[in-house]
Amino acid sequence: MKPIPTDLFINGEWRPAADGAKTPLVNPATEEPLAEVAAASVADLGLAVESAQQAFDGGWRDLAPGKRAEVLFGIARLIRENLKTLAALECANIGKPITDARDEIALGARIFEYYAGGVSRFCGQTIPVARGGFDYTLRTPMGVVAAIVPWNFPFPIACWKVAPALAAGNAVVLKPASLSPLTALMLGQLAHAAGLPSGVLQVVSGSGQAIGDALVQHPLIRKISFTGSTAVGARIMALAAPGIKRISLELGGKSPNIVFADSDWRRAAETSPMSVFANTGQDCCARSRLFVERSILEPFLEALVAATRKLVVDDPLRPETQIGPLVSAGQRESVEAYLAEAQAAGRTVAVGGVRPKRKGYFLEPAVLVGVEPGDRCWQEEIFGPVVCVRPFEDEAAMIGEVNASPYGLSGSVWTDNLSRALRVARQIESGVLSINSHSSVHVEAPFGGFKQSGVGRDLGMQALEGYTELKNVYIAESP
Ligand code: NAP
Ligand code: MG
Repeated sequence: MKPIPTDLFINGEWRPAADGAKTPLVNPATEEPLAEVAAASVADLGLAVESAQQAFDGGWRDLAPGKRAEVLFGIARLIRENLKTLAALECANIGKPITDARDEIALGARIFEYYAGGVSRFCGQTIPVARGGFDYTLRTPMGVVAAIVPWNFPFPIACWKVAPALAAGNAVVLKPASLSPLTALMLGQLAHAAGLPSGVLQVVSGSGQAIGDALVQHPLIRKISFTGSTAVGARIMALAAPGIKRISLELGGKSPNIVFADSDWRRAAETSPMSVFANTGQDCCARSRLFVERSILEPFLEALVAATRKLVVDDPLRPETQIGPLVSAGQRESVEAYLAEAQAAGRTVAVGGVRPKRKGYFLEPAVLVGVEPGDRCWQEEIFGPVVCVRPFEDEAAMIGEVNASPYGLSGSVWTDNLSRALRVARQIESGVLSINSHSSVHVEAPFGGFKQSGVGRDLGMQALEGYTELKNVYIAESP
């Protein structure tokens, strides 16, 4: 295996971009150059899509599910065998703490195993229709799927699109984010080594601005599965419309973390920092709006600030590190602009928000208090290590404020009152919610958003459905 993949992975082999274009990568923890990776042109993309269609027609679509499952189990095994290499690449590429990187690579393997097992249990129905005869449904693959993924969780998000799409019998053209192409390219090679026929998974690194429109509009692309910003998601939806292409969009979020006085709020305070600062806050599920019942505001804030101070912000290669750098200089500047604007408006940074004295795009996690509902920091996705805190008194008014956001991806509710938990869980407009916990992602459960956080679902058996067309067949019993 190549130590650092630097070419496109098309038709089972490495190849440079046709025009020789490359994207330079920088290690965000050291600010040192890391590699130069091929940036696909529209011509490379066309080749990738057309040969993916040939690979789809050439046998993958008709392979028995059990045979596809064997290949997927093989991919999972090779991911596990190369876990350390993949984790080191992710760490160097985007500054992800090495412990998190290892967990995410292992998660990628689990996702392949889940869909390898799932596809053999993925059934149609027989339906008792009014006319005499026999009616049944079939799940058929779509064709070539475009998977476009972001830089914050490059490997698991790539896996949770590629694995169910392949399991269902599709071919995939995977476009990683320009900032984070390395583990996606490796996945292409590992999948091929595990026996996936050439062309069934094509990995085309390259700029979304340069090749995104061509990919989405390519006549052979039947479905676009996208994770990223709401702005790009909206563009993809519009470009997909003329061809009535299937889309699934996982977009931004501004998720609430709601702490009632009747909860184990000390545990909530201890665990809340990592619910927003993990991955340096670059997480679409980050609990960035913290609603605290007013009667516990003061002791809660004290505990929250103390827990935030304890976080280990350091070199991502150290196993103890919890918070690494932001992904780029620009991302850090964008976060700092939100903090500066809030402070200029009189809001208070209770802790953090400054650059530690070291190289790399680090920023101390920040707790912002005294925030008002109209503030930009309260309304917009910052995508960095900033949590905004607001007290509440009335449950219904608080839920109104939660649901006023155009986003609806994830959230947490802390309460020991079962009736309240059920009531609040029903009322909050979000695709994913946890009670007395901050977890959002379970391989076996559907993941996705309400409102401007997206359409469609990743993960669970729902994702497998999303990569198939549903066909109904009726057989007359007698003429
Ligand atoms: P982004 O700019 O939307 O990029 C996501 C992907 O889309 C990248 O591969 C990007 O390529 C590509 N892209 C950019 N412009 C495109 C176009 N015109 N057509 C097709 N593809 C295009 O988002 P990002 O900056 O990478 O990630 C941050 C955002 O993603 C945040 O808003 C975050 O909430 C969201 N996100 C959501 C989830 C979720 O599951 N809901 C998960 C993670 C992130 P380039 O890198 O080459 O620009
Ligand atoms: Mg972008």
